[in-house]
Amino acid sequence: MYVARVLYPVNVLGIGNRVGIWTSICKHKCIGCSNPELWESNESQKVSVKDLFNTIKQINNYKKIDGFTITGGDPFYQVKDLRKLIDKLLLISDDIIIYTGFTIEELKRENDEDINYILNHIAVLIDGRYVEELNDNSFMVGSSNQRKLILNEKYKEVYESYFASNTNQIQNFMLDDGIVSVGIHSKDFDEKVRKEFINKNEKQK
Ligand code: SF4
Repeated sequence: MYVARVLYPVNVLGIGNRVGIWTSICKHKCIGCSNPELWESNESQKVSVKDLFNTIKQINNYKKIDGFTITGGDPFYQVKDLRKLIDKLLLISDDIIIYTGFTIEELKRENDEDINYILNHIAVLIDGRYVEELNDNSFMVGSSNQRKLILNEKYKEVYESYFASNTNQIQNFMLDDGIVSVGIHSKDFDEKVRKEFINKNEKQK
């Protein structure tokens, strides 16, 4: 499986302290995508589902994992491995959110055993391509055409209330090779960061 990063605790893409998993590969190529570096995979990102789960188990040994958010890229471009991964994650929590550029109708139309299995075992699917003109900073979606579909009845109430009562937040992770900014960014996010950077530099002069 091609996985670009695994972060914990992610608090801005679902309830509680979550493991965020960013898979590589996406062929939707939406204009304005915030993760174009994940459209292609590279060999350094290749990991077996077993090794990936071992890393997650290490986190679980020391910290509480409330759920998982899998995004990318589009995780459904690696559907066989995604199913295997879901099977493992369910041993820890069934609060699993997946982001995909496909609509649920497109996924179901495939009539694929692995896809159907995944849809039957996750809590929430956030579906649809990103449409720049429809980016209105709605909670947890890049653009307003994307839907937050609660697929597990058990989570209906809790996620309906969570979606209704929260707004987008950004969470920054310091990594060895820089900062990763997690969350749904507003359309003018890059511009704001650029301005802040310039202001800071000017004040330091
Ligand atoms: S589906 Fe998501 S990751 Fe893929 S191009 Fe669109 S916004 Fe980017």
